[in-house]
Amino acid sequence: MKTYRIATIPGDGIGKEVVPAGAQVLEALAKTTKSFAFEFENFDWGGDYYRKHGVMMPADGLDAIRDKDAILFGSAGDPDIPDHITLWGLRLKICQGFDQYANVRPTRILPGIDGPLKRCKPEDLNWVIVRENSEGEYSGVGGRVHQGHPLEAATDVSILTRAGVERIMRFAFRLAQSRPRKLLTVITKSNAQRHAMVMWDEIALEVSKEFPDVKWDKELVDASTARMINRPATLDTIVATNLHADILSDLAAALAGSLGIAPTGNIDPERRFPSMFEPIHGSAFDIMGKGLANPVGTFWSVVMLLEHLGEVDAAKRVMQAVEAVTADKSLHTGDLGGTATTAQVTAAVCAFIERAAVPAANAA
Ligand code: NAD
Ligand code: MN
Repeated sequence: MKTYRIATIPGDGIGKEVVPAGAQVLEALAKTTKSFAFEFENFDWGGDYYRKHGVMMPADGLDAIRDKDAILFGSAGDPDIPDHITLWGLRLKICQGFDQYANVRPTRILPGIDGPLKRCKPEDLNWVIVRENSEGEYSGVGGRVHQGHPLEAATDVSILTRAGVERIMRFAFRLAQSRPRKLLTVITKSNAQRHAMVMWDEIALEVSKEFPDVKWDKELVDASTARMINRPATLDTIVATNLHADILSDLAAALAGSLGIAPTGNIDPERRFPSMFEPIHGSAFDIMGKGLANPVGTFWSVVMLLEHLGEVDAAKRVMQAVEAVTADKSLHTGDLGGTATTAQVTAAVCAFIERAAVPAANAA
């Protein structure tokens, strides 16, 4: 029996509610199989840790999680600490420290969920957004001078490297190739950003030649927002820079019904380091501490975590449980217009996993 070592990092706000729910689902799953188990280690990094120690995580924190098989993350963001400190001090430290350069965000309209698009059938919206996760607009290069004076100046410099663009393009083409439609849309803004984005386009064309069976097109980022809304079925796999994909994926999540359902994986495709899985939402200050957070984004992230570990069958079983639960409107949380609690949704998903496993266990 394999034992997967999982680091859980709830972080702040509703992260503290949805990550334990995700671990509970993994534990329920482990009870149904003899082929694997999980060993969890929890890390109390985040805003509370910052108040005690002046940093979001310890300086040698990456060493404590380097040997894990995967990381389940909640959210970084505290009402009393500036967002750039919480984000850079924890989440980006892990993403960049472990060179998790591919951020993968699947979007579908799950059963029972009413998306906001009137003319969009559920089967019209089945996307995976690949976000460049290591450089671009969020490379952290820049500075401020003459603070508070009329001369004050500030820069955030977007940096794209040939190596960085080649590897994310290759990842995106490969992912597109693995999906039934073999269709990739490369998001760009090379009309206005005339240096790095032109290189981005050129490298897309170069890499495309390695994938002759993948159909691909290019779309300007602003036009792509309209296309997502007016012609969702023309999209399948999408690749974009850090900032562009950050924005497009929140739009995608909203079009699929709620920010509370959307998952993401921060992947090191070369598997030199553990990859990190998290719901795309943040700390949700308005509902934190009340037990009202939708845990589905975390559960779907758990599905991605299992797929990354190669437990494809187990991943399918968790996804089936999630879909059975979203199909039942009495189990919808507030963000979906319902009144269910985090605990009720979690219990329902765990019960489904256990129930669905019974025939298999009897047969064995
Ligand atoms: P948010 O995602 O926290 O909340 C936006 C809205 O969506 C809120 O009304 C919230 O209640 C709702 N919502 C989000 N997730 C939900 C869920 N699971 N169930 C039900 N409702 C949900 O975004 P924000 O308000 O822009 O940011 C709040 C804080 O979180 C900020 O400090 C921000 O920096 C941080 N943040 C962190 C991450 C991350 O760590 N990956 C991502 C986004 C925001
Ligand atoms: Mn975002």
